[in-house]
Amino acid sequence: MGSHRRKSCRVCSGSDLRSVLDLGAQPCANALPADPKDFETEARYPLELFICEGCAHLQLIDVVDPEELFGHYLYLTGTSSTMRRHFERYAKAMTERCGLAPGARVVEVASNDGCLLAGFQAEGAQVLGIEPARNVAEQARASGVETLSLFFDEDCARTVREERGAFDLAVANNVLAHVDDPLGFLKGLRRLVEPRGRVVVEVPWAGQMFDKLEFDTIYHEHLSCFLAGPLGALIRRAGMAVEEYWHKPVHGGTLRLLLSPSDEGQHAAPFRKLVETENARGLHDTRSWEAFAEKAIGLRDALTDLLENEHEAGRVVAGYGAPAKGNTLLNFCGIGPERLAFTVDKNPLKAGRWTPGSHIPIFPPEVIEERKPDLLLILPWNLAEEIMEQEDSHRARGGRFLIPIPEPRILT
Ligand SMILES: [Zn+2]
Repeated sequence: MGSHRRKSCRVCSGSDLRSVLDLGAQPCANALPADPKDFETEARYPLELFICEGCAHLQLIDVVDPEELFGHYLYLTGTSSTMRRHFERYAKAMTERCGLAPGARVVEVASNDGCLLAGFQAEGAQVLGIEPARNVAEQARASGVETLSLFFDEDCARTVREERGAFDLAVANNVLAHVDDPLGFLKGLRRLVEPRGRVVVEVPWAGQMFDKLEFDTIYHEHLSCFLAGPLGALIRRAGMAVEEYWHKPVHGGTLRLLLSPSDEGQHAAPFRKLVETENARGLHDTRSWEAFAEKAIGLRDALTDLLENEHEAGRVVAGYGAPAKGNTLLNFCGIGPERLAFTVDKNPLKAGRWTPGSHIPIFPPEVIEERKPDLLLILPWNLAEEIMEQEDSHRARGGRFLIPIPEPRILT
């Protein structure tokens, strides 16, 4: 248990790393205390964003032990209906795009509760999940998705390939940013599918984080914030090329890349164009990210002022959701139970616990009906529409909603 600080960039191995945004020492965003007794022993680790002045890769260099981060992951993808619909569409689109015939072999790394693989099963594929969080892997198996409880790296890829043969498609959804050795991870994905299969990778795109001031998507799990420039260089080093990419709105701006093993080839023209656009917009410049950090500090001041005003006016503010991003925001802004009375979450693994660091109690959503807060701070702002629709009785009795990002705004 613990953390270590890297000395070099995890994309280019360069050592010219510059701090751009210090979010303070924070507990792991998914380590939700189950008891107030746990508050005192809560471990905190630096949460600080660096840019590599060599290749412009944005990254955390303080690496928390994976077992501490992922051993009991509480995020179940199937929890949100927006996510479920996203995965059904994802499986259908990739089956069509890759021309997968019935019986095609699909493997997913960090397959979570098997929600996406179930979508591929519905399309006729034979599926295998690889998921390190044991409790989550168990849930996937219970729902009929064969899942190995393994931590994926190059060695794991070699073993799975030897035992199971080549796959037609390997999917890695929102996990590349979580690994300390993304090069080894991509090489492992290549090994699962070579010579003819394909790889689909989804990562949050840091360009959107920049545009929408989504600094709260930085947490200890997200060791990398990928821009297309450094990511493209990494993919080439892993012996693959981008065939096609899509920019998706899920999770606040996701880049989906279709890759194929290629020792010589270059990335498809549209992807190269995206890299050029990033460059032209200054996204590869340290100065742009320093300006981003100044704006994040401005948002913190605006949000804390707003909550203080609500408090002074005697109004009750509660949260909606306890996502990892919410914890970064609450801890960075120093918001605790004196400003946010409680929060609620649909995930039964979260309700009954407390938010890490900020120690706000998490209840099931029904508590909104009982306690009738005046204002709901929506922490998973990417699901704001779904939540506001669902909480229409809160609105009907005059309750308002507060969306924190890209600037705090109140909706009635
Ligand atoms: Zn670098």
